[in-house]
Amino acid sequence: MSKELADIIFPNITKTVEDYEKIYPKRNLPEGAVVTRFAPSPTGFVHIGSLFTATFASRFARQTNGIYYLRIEDTDSKREVDNGIELIINGLKVFDVKFDEGPVDENNQEGAYGPYIQSQRKEIYQTYAKSLIEKGLAYPCFCTPEDLDKTREKQEKLKIRPGYYGEYAKCRMMSESQMIERIKNGENYIIRLKSPGNPNKKVRYTDLIRGMIEFPEHDQDIVIIKSDGLPTYHFAHAIDDHLMRTTHVIRGEEWLSSVPLHLQLFDMLGFETPIYVHMPTIMKDDNGSKRKISKRKDPEAAASYYKENGIPSDAVTDYLLNILNSNYEIWRKENPKTPSTEFKIDPAKINVSGAMFDLVKLADVSKNTISNYTAERVYEEGLEWAKMYDHELAKLMEQHKDFTIGILNIERTGTKIRKDISKWSDLRENLEYLYDEVYLNKEHEYEWQSITDKEEIKKIIEEYVNVYDENDDKDTWFNKIKDVCEKYGYAREVKEYKKNPENYKGHVGDVSTVIRVALTSRRNTPDLYEILKLLGKERMKIRFSLI
Ligand code: GLU
Repeated sequence: MSKELADIIFPNITKTVEDYEKIYPKRNLPEGAVVTRFAPSPTGFVHIGSLFTATFASRFARQTNGIYYLRIEDTDSKREVDNGIELIINGLKVFDVKFDEGPVDENNQEGAYGPYIQSQRKEIYQTYAKSLIEKGLAYPCFCTPEDLDKTREKQEKLKIRPGYYGEYAKCRMMSESQMIERIKNGENYIIRLKSPGNPNKKVRYTDLIRGMIEFPEHDQDIVIIKSDGLPTYHFAHAIDDHLMRTTHVIRGEEWLSSVPLHLQLFDMLGFETPIYVHMPTIMKDDNGSKRKISKRKDPEAAASYYKENGIPSDAVTDYLLNILNSNYEIWRKENPKTPSTEFKIDPAKINVSGAMFDLVKLADVSKNTISNYTAERVYEEGLEWAKMYDHELAKLMEQHKDFTIGILNIERTGTKIRKDISKWSDLRENLEYLYDEVYLNKEHEYEWQSITDKEEIKKIIEEYVNVYDENDDKDTWFNKIKDVCEKYGYAREVKEYKKNPENYKGHVGDVSTVIRVALTSRRNTPDLYEILKLLGKERMKIRFSLI
């Protein structure tokens, strides 16, 4: 009898579940290889939480010689946008999250387990739904939204659990001949699972990062096929993850409470259950209270925010890996230039109690990440950003390419490495005052320090210009500054000054500051000797003439 019902509901389904088992055979991969996936809706938006999960999942698959694939979950067409898939793929590629299989992989090849877009797999889901109906494990439900509202109201009044279960699962009780008759009459229906669960019994499962979890059994007769013939997330997930031979379902912790239902589905469909991994939610500190990063309230929720704000994607990845495994920070210090893909992630070390994400901490990480780049890389990536977001700066950088790389190269090697850039928008502050077309056309507020008397400053500068020689090495250059000190009553060494301050007007530090400020108007700059070398004596003199 159930066969008749199944055939009436799905007359065009001719394949069987056995056929699909053959079409999508077990993968031939080495022992321990993790097959996992990114399964977004094609909204085009990549949330920082999804990026966090994807960073872990893609690397976990890679480090076990497994497979990371992209599956588009588009059974809810209300949420789709044009180019949604492309936006997701490109949005993740920036963060070195790449797919081995998917709807648009790099070679435009799908892989052997496709289609990877759920709306193109309708027939597959219907085949499995048909088989469940044949076995008496699923049934058509004719309840209208009004019927369901009435049931809910009744449950609310009685203060009992809402939902379609037990005595409230009205259509479950209907005879098959009645069902067939109503279908033949052209009534609308959906397909529901005939849940065998008993909420008084417990179901246990072991999450890879959370350990053993116990839940009451699931007993709701959930919808598996909607009125448009497409599956719900729950049903599609079980079938796809089985047929795509997923070993690990890695997803956000908001799905944790669905596990009892999913285990039930795997069981009823006769599938082996995958290992579940529920990743912690990304949280932020909002005036002292911890809350989820929200798409609506927080611009940093979007993975695209970082590019727009000039934060290199490597820095974001570094920070996400810090949050993921706290030992990453030490590894990064020990291996400053090694690609982060070399770091072995340990799932056992993932902290499950909510991952705190903080833009200030990210800026700190980013400073370190950028300090490990070559000057050329800083130039290239900074310029790429500036071309989109700061045209004036981009023009200056392009006009003075070698000079700019020279400036960026100051203090980039050796023991004291510059860490003054945390995002590409900092480059303006770092470079602008060194370009003459900007500097010479501006009024300056000079940040003089201990020596403020204009006559004294002019005297020092004049003497310094007299002795300055572009060809001097650093020691000779500095000795000449010391000679200027001596001539005008300043100590050659700070130590000397500290011993007998009454003998001097100040010390070599004060004199150097005068030169620095006269040249740039500011007290803090990278190494003065290097800047002077890049500017040259003539440009130095023009700058001095402005004071
Ligand atoms: N489409 C689901 C989501 O976007 C996927 C969850 C999963 O990874 O299974 O949340």
